[in-house]
Amino acid sequence: MRPLTYSRAADVEDAVALAATSPTSAFLAGGTTEVDLIRAGISRSDHLIDINDLPLTDVEERPDGGLHIGALARMSDIARTPSVVREFPAISRALLLGASEQLRNMASLGGNLRQRTRCAYLRDGVSPCNKREPGSGCSALEGLNRGHAILGTSEHCIATHPSDVAVALVAFDAVVQTVGPDGERAIAFDDFFLLPGETPEVEHPIAHGELIVGIDVPGAPIGRRSIYLKFRDRQSYEFALVSVAAAIEVDDGTVTGVRLALGGVGTKPWRARRAEAALVGAPAEEESFRRAAAAEFETAVVREHNAFKVEFARRALVRGLTASLRGGRP
Ligand SMILES: Cc1cc2nc3c(=O)[nH]c(=O)nc-3n(C[C@H](O)[C@H](O)[C@H](O)COP(=O)(O)OP(=O)(O)OC[C@H]3O[C@@H](n4cnc5c(N)ncnc54)[C@H](O)[C@@H]3O)c2cc1C
Repeated sequence: MRPLTYSRAADVEDAVALAATSPTSAFLAGGTTEVDLIRAGISRSDHLIDINDLPLTDVEERPDGGLHIGALARMSDIARTPSVVREFPAISRALLLGASEQLRNMASLGGNLRQRTRCAYLRDGVSPCNKREPGSGCSALEGLNRGHAILGTSEHCIATHPSDVAVALVAFDAVVQTVGPDGERAIAFDDFFLLPGETPEVEHPIAHGELIVGIDVPGAPIGRRSIYLKFRDRQSYEFALVSVAAAIEVDDGTVTGVRLALGGVGTKPWRARRAEAALVGAPAEEESFRRAAAAEFETAVVREHNAFKVEFARRALVRGLTASLRGGRP
């Protein structure tokens, strides 16, 4: 058994200062992921800093129609906030399709973004895994890789990022606000998640002890037409095999704006920029959606068990776009 110490931070400055006292400290929000990882011996954190007293639970509508969401806002509370449901139904839906009601009541947005991959080779604690033991190898490359990524992979890691809400947030150019030892920072959402490259153990561009204080989502009228679809092996309490956040704007039959992101297929929440570029200016019809979906997967790298995800995700993209075109009805 490993000894653990526990402190309760009084405010943001206190949390950052407490984190700096130990290189193996970790913030504790809902604890739904961190406690599991400590128990399994995957997290080496031995000094937990409880941040639940921090005033970071607000979900507010901004003057531009966007949102500010405190890092400690619970998934259930965010999902049911009227401005979220109205302005960004995809964000609300992505939250409600994640985990279980009990978990969503405990789990914070900050913790959700920093959850680790569900790759079984990371979590079994013994198989070679470059995320857990840099340089040990990636067991998934030649192992059981049905659930693994096909976009953004490297020869060192093919694990997917498991968050649902991160997929919806990346589609809407959210910004992660942090406070750390060197002060405040705003990090574009897409930059907050790093591709594995040669260093899959480095998942975020933040320093040890840097606290997420909130997420800002800029106002975007297209958000009202957004939808989040999640496809998985069972209908509840399961991570995505493929998911899609989609929103489309059309003028006189031509696509004038589009937001697309994918879950379950990328090593990070995947903004489908190739598909977006192929769609703007194209006729708003299924043929264009299919072409855009095909463009997104031109760079896909498949393994023995996950090749099915290419066609699966293409179809999911088409379905998401079609649903948004119908006004957000699945
Ligand atoms: C059985 C199960 C099923 C799940 N299914 C899904 C699913 O379908 N979809 C999905 O999206 N998620 C799913 N999850 C993941 C769940 O959403 C996360 O466990 C949860 O969001 C983590 O939030 P938390 O507040 O409990 O984080 P914690 O466990 O408290 O923390 C997680 C990590 O984030 C760090 N952290 C927490 N807050 C901050 C902060 N403010 N700043 C910096 N670092 C911070 C912690 O130090 C820790 O490293 C599932 C989890 C479980 C256990």
